[in-house]
Amino acid sequence: MSTTGPVAGEAHAPGARGPAGTIPLAVPNIGELERRYVLEAVESGFVSSVGPFVSEFERRFAERVGARYAIACATGTAAIHIGLLLLGVTSEDEVFCSDFTFVGSVNPIAYTGAKVTFIDSELRTWNMDPALLEAELDRRVAAGERLPKAVEVVHVLGQPADLETILAICERHGVAVLEDAAESLGASWSGGALAGRHTGQVGRVGAFSFNGNKIATTGGGGMIVTDDEELAARARHLTTQAKVPDVGYLHDEVGYNYRLTNLAAGLGLAQLERLEEFVSAKHAIAARYDTELADTGLVLPPRLPGYDATYWLYSVLTPEDDPRGRDEFLDHLNRAGVGARALWRPLHMQPPFAAAPVLGGRVGEQLFHRGVSLPCATELSEADQQRVTDAVRSFF
Ligand SMILES: *Cc1c(COP(=O)(O)O)cnc(C)c1O
Repeated sequence: MSTTGPVAGEAHAPGARGPAGTIPLAVPNIGELERRYVLEAVESGFVSSVGPFVSEFERRFAERVGARYAIACATGTAAIHIGLLLLGVTSEDEVFCSDFTFVGSVNPIAYTGAKVTFIDSELRTWNMDPALLEAELDRRVAAGERLPKAVEVVHVLGQPADLETILAICERHGVAVLEDAAESLGASWSGGALAGRHTGQVGRVGAFSFNGNKIATTGGGGMIVTDDEELAARARHLTTQAKVPDVGYLHDEVGYNYRLTNLAAGLGLAQLERLEEFVSAKHAIAARYDTELADTGLVLPPRLPGYDATYWLYSVLTPEDDPRGRDEFLDHLNRAGVGARALWRPLHMQPPFAAAPVLGGRVGEQLFHRGVSLPCATELSEADQQRVTDAVRSFF
């Protein structure tokens, strides 16, 4: 990876280091093990989408998140797309989706041609508000209206959603749950009905991302997980151009070239073997921020009993009554060499989805207007983190 100054526009690309001297928001942590496995993949001649690293990465990933099957994909977006197809989503259907998330959550719904309805977050978890979901499903049943084919629940920033409640509501209505766990590898529940379960593994299908800025990276990549053998086989089929095995170039439906390469899987396996190291680093960084920023007036990320967040990105909200707002705070931090960044614009405010219905919306707008992510690369030194907290504190 280049450590020289970035080209214009690249500074905010996923995993980018930013201008020289700034403390980066989040950058990949690539070491000797990664080098060794990628080199091994190159030297083995298996560089493409079949190879021992792909199968080993899938096997170990499934084991780590407690899923029966894992199917590696070219991107997290592709994993979500296939996940929707596995649930039978077509252009005749509708999907409910978290409103406050990265656009990669919803673009795959658009690929299927299905309609989307957005559901706002709750302030407790920053994720989908179960009360809004329940009210809408109950209202539709009472009105004799059609239910969505699936509910796509996102676990943003490494924070688990209240999936126990969401799942119970969806089960009562017979609606499938797809988890977008792109940002929550390593996050789980330690209390309630889902105690011991990993995010992404609870719904019928889960999707993860290994993009450059995520907690573990393959350069670009994703994973589909499921406990359903038939869905797993279908995922494998759809991601490999719907090729029928052992028959000369027979493709029995429209498929996708969505498989992960063996080269990328080598990188991914090394990252997976170091996941506990990354998660502990994120926890330590979050704990230090929690202590250092407790008296600043900032709203700190959720810390809920029974929820084991990874704090993949450590994000705070500017005080509600501070007239200076997020942009001034961001400017202040950026001028101090701190690679802080705003949170996402909710999906109902994105031009391609502006016409889609949204249930609620004010919470996501608050998170967007007041949210700032602070540097939390796994290699962030305590000295650099002190520079960040000093810069934050000097604003208040
Ligand atoms: C990163 C991300 C995606 C898309 O993953 P890619 O690997 O970048 O395609 C989808 N949803 C969320 C919430 C993400 O953060």
